[in-house]
Amino acid sequence: MGWKTIDDMDLSGKRVLLRVDINVPVEKGRVTDATRIERIVPTVEDILAKGGTPILVAHFGRPKGKVVLDMSLRQVLPVLREKLGHPVAFIETLEAAERHTEEQDTAEVMLLENIRFHPGEEKNDPEFARRLAGLADVYCNDAFSAAHRAHASTEGVAHHLPSCAGRLMQAELEALEAALGQPQRPVVAVVGGAKVSTKLDLLGNLVAKVDHLVIGGGMANTFLAAQGIDVGKSLCEHDLADTARAILDKAQAAGCEIVLPEDVVVAREFKAGAENEVVAADACPEDAMILDAGPRAVAKIDAVLSGAKTLIWNGPLGAFEIPPFDTATNAAAARAAALTQAGQLISVAGGGDTVAALNGAGAAETFTYISTAGGAFLEWMEGKDLPGVAALAQSAAA
Ligand code: ADP
Ligand code: MG
Repeated sequence: MGWKTIDDMDLSGKRVLLRVDINVPVEKGRVTDATRIERIVPTVEDILAKGGTPILVAHFGRPKGKVVLDMSLRQVLPVLREKLGHPVAFIETLEAAERHTEEQDTAEVMLLENIRFHPGEEKNDPEFARRLAGLADVYCNDAFSAAHRAHASTEGVAHHLPSCAGRLMQAELEALEAALGQPQRPVVAVVGGAKVSTKLDLLGNLVAKVDHLVIGGGMANTFLAAQGIDVGKSLCEHDLADTARAILDKAQAAGCEIVLPEDVVVAREFKAGAENEVVAADACPEDAMILDAGPRAVAKIDAVLSGAKTLIWNGPLGAFEIPPFDTATNAAAARAAALTQAGQLISVAGGGDTVAALNGAGAAETFTYISTAGGAFLEWMEGKDLPGVAALAQSAAA
């Protein structure tokens, strides 16, 4: 796929600048969720096993190029040491890092202080990137979630060192490639969520690549309204009617079937357990709002999923935070999980609320791959080149 992995690199006796995402939630100086730290462990272990010395580089919060003590990576150090089961030296400044790398013991792990304390990081300043690169012999990027940003530690350094993807980055790219790059067809995309406006590029890219596009959630209302249907008090972007129609036209030209809900669940209040009813998609009462897809819509999604080989999913099908408006999302998630378990479907999903919804449905563990990368996942699905990935490929080609 154009970039190298740890397997392709000779790391014996080499210092490896390892970009990771350990931007974990912290309350009162204590890490409250260590998932991101746990996920980098295999990469660090593999580098050590190949005789390399990892120098971890990461950001933490948004200090905007200044030293902000609240945003010191020192706070994650105890948990990092515990999860790695390995000593970690904390290095506060670049000068200290430069001195330290000269006298460094092998098999030591270093963690540099929050790289965003340096103004050159987010500016991708070439001098700063060169200086960072000077700390190591090899660059390994394991921060897929930061790959949509062209910063010195995510992009700039790759131009100065032999570079490779870490295990997490590799898993993420392989999963995305299997879903949208060279997928087994038919491919179905499920796109839901609140608004069309935040997912225009995504819809535009998907209709050109997938065989079926299921549109759900609040954004389906905009498509229904664009076809002249009255959606009452539903969340709806009426000003995007032309855009919605253009997406429908593009889909038709590309041979992509668009699946909009045939029936919907409507309620008059946006609260848990609100009185609700199922109506045809074109029969929303004027004082009600559409909060979920109905049973016929779910049956249609079932049928589309059953005939598919690959699923890519972003965005819940309804207002899943307030039961019972999680019903369609849960049903579709359960179906996708069952097909995945039966070996009939490759299922890839991502997005903050999507991951929460699939966890809530108890389906996340069974999916082929769940991306926690947020913005980078969406940009990849939108067909955009991610600078952090492109730089790895350029380095491999050089
Ligand atoms: P993600 O974070 O996975 O990319 P989004 O942020 O795009 O997903 O969408 C999730 C939000 O969409 C949820 O807060 C959900 O309540 C909302 N939503 C879904 N369907 C509806 C609907 N019919 N009306 C109002 N909000 C909806
Ligand atoms: Mg969201």
